Amino acid sequence: MKPETNLLRELPSVDRVMTHPAAAPLLERFSRPFVTETLRDLIDEVRQVIKSGHDLPPHRLQDESIITDLEKKLAQASRPGMVRVVNASGTILHTNLGRALLSEAAAEAVGLVARHPVNLEFDLGRGKRGQREAGIESLLRELTGAEAAAAVNNNAAAVLLGLNSMAEGRHVIVSRGELIEIGGSFRIPEVMAKSGAMLREVGATNRTHPRDYAEAIDDNTGLLLKVHTSNYRVVGFSAEVELKELVAIGRERGVPVMEDLGSGALVDLGNLGLPREPLVAERVAMGADVVTFSADKILGGPQAGLVAGGKSWIDRMNRNPLKRALRCDKLTLAALEATLRSYVQSPDLLREIPTLRAFSRPLDEIEEGGRKVLPLLRQRLGPGYELELVDSTCQIGSGALPTEEIPSKGIAVNSREMSADEVARLFRRADPPIIGRIKSDRFILDLRSAGDPESLAPNLRDRQRPL
Ligand SMILES: *Cc1c(COP(=O)(O)O)cnc(C)c1O
Repeated sequence: MKPETNLLRELPSVDRVMTHPAAAPLLERFSRPFVTETLRDLIDEVRQVIKSGHDLPPHRLQDESIITDLEKKLAQASRPGMVRVVNASGTILHTNLGRALLSEAAAEAVGLVARHPVNLEFDLGRGKRGQREAGIESLLRELTGAEAAAAVNNNAAAVLLGLNSMAEGRHVIVSRGELIEIGGSFRIPEVMAKSGAMLREVGATNRTHPRDYAEAIDDNTGLLLKVHTSNYRVVGFSAEVELKELVAIGRERGVPVMEDLGSGALVDLGNLGLPREPLVAERVAMGADVVTFSADKILGGPQAGLVAGGKSWIDRMNRNPLKRALRCDKLTLAALEATLRSYVQSPDLLREIPTLRAFSRPLDEIEEGGRKVLPLLRQRLGPGYELELVDSTCQIGSGALPTEEIPSKGIAVNSREMSADEVARLFRRADPPIIGRIKSDRFILDLRSAGDPESLAPNLRDRQRPL
């Protein structure tokens, strides 16, 4: 008889392990089917190891040893899939890393709403059904000067709802220079098609003139749409029709104007020494009938799409059955209300909203943080690395101000043995994972996007050189 046949006979049965007293504590922590399935997988794996002729010490097949392995496997399988990471990528609003961080007030509001019943749609004064978005609407009106406002799941949803509510079955005139694609397959022509409105492109990629819009308007025109080209710039021989001019054309011909503003700032970034992003209030004041923008880009709130505009248009959107499908949940509304409340009421907005704090942190403060954390980083990494504080630049991210960069500082990590890719992998395997970037063959940790400099010192669980 082959020795492996013997070993296979030694393999315990699922039933025997499950009834072993040492397995009882596991069944207090995890469901029986989960434990049984994981155990079955484990025994299968051991069987494969034996069959492939690998040496396995006989004690590994004892129930106690199998249960120890089972416990490890259960712990591994019960770790959450979405984990905290450190954003040292140099992109402040990184879509793949969750965009804006919530303010303390917003995070607290989410926790409260998650744990308790709330007056989401209940009017406490009258004791009757109330308005779901009443709180955020009044804040948005105050912040944008618009007559009315609404919130949906994201800005893509806001554009879809706007097009469908304002121009279903009719033509929407858009400049060829503004037929944008945003990452994650948001394309104006495709959203338009799904909205039931029909795209009527005018002008050329680099130049569109007022007469292009005026000449395209006919009885079947439902809307003039302006799209903020947030993730690219048309430079050189170019011309676009300003919102003011578009509003004038629309007014004259009785056609409403909607603007997809993308990021849409509520405060003037120019005051932070940053390049200006258009203010929602400005666009409303210029006469846009509806403006849509994201809540988790420059605004620094939860994922949501905001719509500000004329009351009749917002009413129409709120009555649209699509609104029911696209509406925000209570957690989002709680975070949104807290964030907008900070904009109206906080004495120190830049301190409260993490995104604005990241934009505005002075360079010398960032540099000092970097210098302080260098020794800790050295100690955690051990020998074989060269660390250097370097000049860096940050992008705002999420398509906002794509050609502009904010000065920053970074820590360049060079290994004598590993490539930049391998160093990046090592940092991704830290606990929590640290996401940096590679520039000119060097791995760089950006100190502005990371926030707390200490978060850049990796906690390395296993120090093996990554393969
Ligand atoms: C980001 C962006 C969108 C999509 O917004 P989401 O909130 O990500 O859905 C749409 N239009 C423009 C101009 C944008 O910049």
